[in-house]
Amino acid sequence: MAEFIMAAQNGRNIPTEDKIFGISRRANEMINEKGPDAVVNATIGTLLDDDGDLMVLSSVDDTYMGLEPEEYAAYAPIGGTPAYKKAAIKAALGKYEPKGYVEAVATPGGTGSIRNTIANYSCPGDKVLTSDWHWAPYRTITSEIGRSIDTYQLFTEDGQFNIEAFSKKVHEILEIQDRLVIIINTPAHNPTGYALSNEDWQQVVDCLSYVAPENRIALLVDAAYIDFAGDEDKYREFLPILETLPANILPIIAYSMSKTFTIYGMRCGAMICLAPTREIAEEFKRVCEFSSRGTWSNSAKAGQSIIANIFADEELLKKVTQERKDIREMLLSRGKAFEEESIKAGLKIVPFDAGFFASIPCDNPDEISAKLEKKGIFLVPLAMGLRVSIASISEEKCRRIPAEIKRAMEE
Ligand code: PLP
Repeated sequence: MAEFIMAAQNGRNIPTEDKIFGISRRANEMINEKGPDAVVNATIGTLLDDDGDLMVLSSVDDTYMGLEPEEYAAYAPIGGTPAYKKAAIKAALGKYEPKGYVEAVATPGGTGSIRNTIANYSCPGDKVLTSDWHWAPYRTITSEIGRSIDTYQLFTEDGQFNIEAFSKKVHEILEIQDRLVIIINTPAHNPTGYALSNEDWQQVVDCLSYVAPENRIALLVDAAYIDFAGDEDKYREFLPILETLPANILPIIAYSMSKTFTIYGMRCGAMICLAPTREIAEEFKRVCEFSSRGTWSNSAKAGQSIIANIFADEELLKKVTQERKDIREMLLSRGKAFEEESIKAGLKIVPFDAGFFASIPCDNPDEISAKLEKKGIFLVPLAMGLRVSIASISEEKCRRIPAEIKRAMEE
């Protein structure tokens, strides 16, 4: 008998189990059976300590514990509380003072910003452009709202940002549609750990500056990991380059409080536009708030209050920033360890700078990942290789696994 399908599929490809959570479940089963030392669970996209426990900034935790009922139980305005929006802009842009018109709209995490950008700056049926190595939920989000993902090859043969491939795809897509949302996830790109250099950004801007003025492009910078790439000011140096774009190209930053403030479950984020005119900024606010109302209504207030309170207190902000710096140093050491040992083991990895993840290119990721699972190493097989979450394993494990991965690839 044919399978009885009740739910409307609407062109979506819906798996029976989320791949990453499925692998993580098997890893936990093995941990229960053999103990934590026998297992490397490098699947989880949250920062864990060397014992596998969630790391939460204690200063953020204290701020949460100190909230008044009004600060978490009441509805927030659709676009976010004014104090939160101000704080979110400060958090996202750091010391940079934009020349243009900035507006922020609160969203449930960075995911909400991505969803709202696609929904409001593309049309049903449109393609959304991102790189071949990308965060899989981009596809889920686009398919949910009747769009699809198209990709360009992120790297040249010698591991540089592939501006030619990017430029070719932009022009190809604009032959068939007059609007385009481009998602660039940088720095500390998920899944590779790559960061566009300022020169790469300049090339992107030069390429987009040649697009016909009747086209409309939303350039979405998915900055989910920006505060875990290294020096927070240095990794924001690309921001002024974005402001040299012509008026038909709107830079939008998808900023997530999940990682920066270790409040993943609070669902707190913001979409921030760097608009060249007041009209474009006001339109951004109006359409994105409208869209929010029609999807999640207002975003949760607790996270907004935490961030607003942190930015209202200079001493507290300093403490949070220092605490984050400490855990970032730990993450950066893990990344360096993984990179060094990969070189020693002769394991090729995708160009890596910093962040929660690193990737290994290969032709048969499912097969290799299954072999590694038997040895207690749990990674995420992607379309083009294997993703290792260095955020969720100790430095010792980061040093140990490259040789084991290399061996599994050769067996
Ligand atoms: N973008 C990328 C590349 C991510 O990896 C994530 C989270 O894993 C997000 C955006 C959004 O995160 P959140 O919605 O939890 O803030």
